Amino acid sequence: MNKLLLYCSIVLLAVLLQDCSYSQTTDTKKSSDMDNMKKINNPVYSHQDSTKVNLSEEEWKKILPSDVYYVARMKGTERPWTSKYEESKEVGTYYCAVCGNPLFKSDTKFESGCGWPSFYEPISKESIIYASDHSYGMERTEVMCGRCKSHLGHVFNDGPPPTGLRYCINGVVLDFEKAKEAEKKYNEKNKSHS
Ligand SMILES: [Zn+2]
Repeated sequence: MNKLLLYCSIVLLAVLLQDCSYSQTTDTKKSSDMDNMKKINNPVYSHQDSTKVNLSEEEWKKILPSDVYYVARMKGTERPWTSKYEESKEVGTYYCAVCGNPLFKSDTKFESGCGWPSFYEPISKESIIYASDHSYGMERTEVMCGRCKSHLGHVFNDGPPPTGLRYCINGVVLDFEKAKEAEKKYNEKNKSHS
């Protein structure tokens, strides 16, 4: 009898645990706050800390969502015209989605028509690392995050003034935060008009 009771409670416990983990995954999937979930699981993510991040690929694989891992660590490329940032004109700052390092300001963003978010200048010299890329029989300059060395995209010489550069960046490795000042001004303007 005791054995049966024990068996029943084990089965019940297994069902409960399964149910619990199931609801967790669905919550994560349906969450509109996917970006915040990414950051909670990522101990190195910071907008302030500029100390270099050096994790093994194993560790990155554990903390990054697979689409971010593929572009950032495997030097992949997202499909063109798929990023929500490609056409965005919102005022704010673009950060590295892997480590939170500030990369580009929205006022250096321009419509390049190439299918990926494009900027003509990074926030600072330190925010980006450059490397020559000879893959696919092309001579290109790869751009990486200055803090975590994640692959971001490439830079080309056909951009607009003042730099003449086009930083062609995979949107999946970008995080955007609206400028609080700009948002405040916008709201005030709307208030005074109504
Ligand atoms: Zn980074």
